Amino acid sequence: MKNLELDLGERSYPIFIARDVLGQPNLWAQYIAGRQVCIVTNSTVAPLYLAALKAQLSDKSVCEVVLPDGEAHKNLATLEQIFDTLLEKNHNRGTTLIALGGGVVGDMCGFAAACYQRGVQFIQIPSTLLSMVDSSVGGKTGVNHPLGKNMIGAFHQPNCVLADLSLLDTLPEREFSAGMAEVIKYGLICDAPFFEWLEANIAGLMRRDTDLLEEAVYRSCANKALVVAEDEREGGRRAILNLGHTFGHAIETAEGYGNWLHGEAVSAGMVLALSLSVELEWLNSEILTRAKSLLQQAGLPVAPPNNMDVDQFLQLMGRDKKVLDGRLRLVLLTGLGEAVVSSQAPEDVIAQVLRDAGV
Ligand code: NAD
Ligand code: MG
Repeated sequence: MKNLELDLGERSYPIFIARDVLGQPNLWAQYIAGRQVCIVTNSTVAPLYLAALKAQLSDKSVCEVVLPDGEAHKNLATLEQIFDTLLEKNHNRGTTLIALGGGVVGDMCGFAAACYQRGVQFIQIPSTLLSMVDSSVGGKTGVNHPLGKNMIGAFHQPNCVLADLSLLDTLPEREFSAGMAEVIKYGLICDAPFFEWLEANIAGLMRRDTDLLEEAVYRSCANKALVVAEDEREGGRRAILNLGHTFGHAIETAEGYGNWLHGEAVSAGMVLALSLSVELEWLNSEILTRAKSLLQQAGLPVAPPNNMDVDQFLQLMGRDKKVLDGRLRLVLLTGLGEAVVSSQAPEDVIAQVLRDAGV
């Protein structure tokens, strides 16, 4: 068992990481203040884990909302299902919402908690690797709008995060790999020793060895917690968490959401961001080689799709939303574990890097 605290003053909260955290309510029952609980989950996760969670809440008045599965349902219309149930069951301001699922469920449940009666408490029980190491920590919640991803949302921190590693037993391999992209990201942007630890332990991690997973989730959350504690609302440094994401966003948009998973697009995007850092002579090419190798061993793509062209790529990266000096703001590396947010990369150098990557 590992736990850590995200330090946000009076909004601080603990993150518990272990196999079978759910079976240890002595750890977390104190984070449910009232009698009313509403579990928000989806049609894939409910048959797997809902009954086990409810069994731990026998002294509460529990209801559940089972949402349809998928990013396509992360919208305001689906969100209404949560409000409908809360109102039909007379949930008051003392209720606690529990998100049981991946990042989609977590973002939606968190946003419902931020809005219902102007804000109620909630708990995150992430069930994907990505949601354990990324989306359940940090308080960003929200839904998509037809014109943009995550465009409607709020900052709302949970009471606690329960990362029960046994939930990962049923996670499909591709989803597991996608989560590993964000794990590797923390090593690259701010934790060189963690990156080296990942290089040494990648084979065991991919076999989902419990002790290694516990360490990887712990160190990922610890890194995210540090960055978020410094910059809760992304005024500055929190942006380094977006390494590879601007390139990745272009890939996700071009290929259609779902065809490339977010983590897959981020993986190829991180390779592009590191290649650009090398091209600018900010980063030693040895780091790029090592990063590629690690991502490949995690089952992730390291090159962009071959059906995009450079112009489309730059367009989707937001060339149309140029910052003041006319250049894209990108997260780049100056060393292993050292990220900077910079708008110094000239567009012709970005284009060259894309061409070199086969775009
Ligand atoms: P997801 O929630 O869609 O889950 C992936 C798939 O795995 C789904 O089909 C889900 O039903 C299934 N699943 C979940 N747990 C399972 C389990 N234990 N066993 C078997 N199947 C399981 O995707 P995700 O990658 O977890 O999250 C992506 C979402 O997170 C995106 O909407 C993204 O915008 C959001 N996100 C938010 C933040 C944040 O800071 N709030 C950060 C990163 C990503
Ligand atoms: Mg991400």
